[in-house]
Amino acid sequence: MTAVQSSAEGRGELAVRTWRWLVRPSLLAVYVVAVVVLYVALTVDGLVRTPVRAEEVLTFGALLACGVVCIEVSRRLGMPAGVARDLLSAWWLPVALLLPPVYALLVPIPMQALLQFRVRRTLLYRRVLVASAFGLAGACASTIFHFVVPEPLDGAPLWVIDVYPGVPVAVGCAALFTVLNTALVAIAAHAANPESRWRDVLWTRESLLLDVVELCVGVVVAITSTLSLGLLLLALPPVVLLQRSLMHQQLQAAARTDAKTGLLNAAAWQREADTELGRAHRTHEPLALLLIDIDYFKRVNDTHGHLVGDQVLIGVAATLCSQLRDYDVVGRFGGEEFVVLLPGADTVEACRVAERLRGRVRRLTVPAEDGTVGVTISVGVSLLRTHGQDLIELLAAADLALYRAKESGRDRVCLPALDDPRAPGV
Ligand code: GH3
Ligand code: MG
Ligand code: MG
Repeated sequence: MTAVQSSAEGRGELAVRTWRWLVRPSLLAVYVVAVVVLYVALTVDGLVRTPVRAEEVLTFGALLACGVVCIEVSRRLGMPAGVARDLLSAWWLPVALLLPPVYALLVPIPMQALLQFRVRRTLLYRRVLVASAFGLAGACASTIFHFVVPEPLDGAPLWVIDVYPGVPVAVGCAALFTVLNTALVAIAAHAANPESRWRDVLWTRESLLLDVVELCVGVVVAITSTLSLGLLLLALPPVVLLQRSLMHQQLQAAARTDAKTGLLNAAAWQREADTELGRAHRTHEPLALLLIDIDYFKRVNDTHGHLVGDQVLIGVAATLCSQLRDYDVVGRFGGEEFVVLLPGADTVEACRVAERLRGRVRRLTVPAEDGTVGVTISVGVSLLRTHGQDLIELLAAADLALYRAKESGRDRVCLPALDDPRAPGV
């Protein structure tokens, strides 16, 4: 492995590289088209076969209206960037359980259109895929539910009564809906980024918990609306409140973190570092700051492309996290610069940690089209009281130390020069 491979590529290598980049998107395209075509075909078929019944249209309209209210609420709060979770399935599930499958196919169309045009625009093919996945998963759950739990002859809501197997089947079908929907979207996410781990695109602990909450709320709303559509007015406020707190929590987390690496962003790091600094002043404990910069990172981008560059950033961030203690404060400061606050660390400890980080990053390998990429880091270290009293002075001193590390050949750890007149506290 070399730090950066800058040799010219042979013709064969270039062909393989081009082929891979061409094939990946086309696999994704084939998959998306297949899912959407299946969705459209089933929807048209459902529309032709399903007779229109006034009370079903009314139920559909009421549940759709509740969904619209939820979307409007999240619109006012704003949406976090990236993948955001909502509680809309709380309304989609009852549509699947209470109405013929065609309604489950139809409901994502107005909902996703509203999300796209009123809340946040995303790539159209993604929106269409998500709508199709919801529709297909809902229709499947609906078909199975109506097969196992036939309509009571007198129209009474028998399926909610204990003797009837309606509720357990509803829970099972809701789980099936979640699994199918997640799988349909995860396959596309994995095709778009084959390096991603299946575990990450399928379920995290947090998303599993949200799925369970959605399932429970969805089944409760279904039972409620079976008893009387008017009861939806009672179900709406708590679901809206849940939706708001979910959005608020996601917005708060997004405002603190750097989306690419998952580390604290510069502003959040500064806030947390200030708190630690105050504590170190009160307790008279030592504290150190590390400013870390990837060496020759521009060459990584130039040689392997920005996507590989991003993977290197993610890899370096993960390496730093794995080597630090829970109470160390680590953030992404700018492009390929990271910053770490080490509470309780004196000069020896800070240099030892910095050397360990440097050694671990050196061993990191990131897959690229033509092999692997490795990088090195330079680290500037500054110490509370020795090099500065506040964050600005400590950062300035660490920046000078980093400059020394770069000047003297990179891939090393430096303290500010004792005789540097620019160094604060020296
Ligand atoms: P040095 O050893 O002196 O630090 O050299 P360098 O090439 O690392 O430094 P330079 O400041 O010249 O280049 C930094 C590069 O980091 C330039 C910029 O394109 C890249 N960069 C900044 N943010 C990102 C990002 O989020 N992703 C990727 N892939 N590249 C980024
Ligand atoms: Mg830099
Ligand atoms: Mg750099």
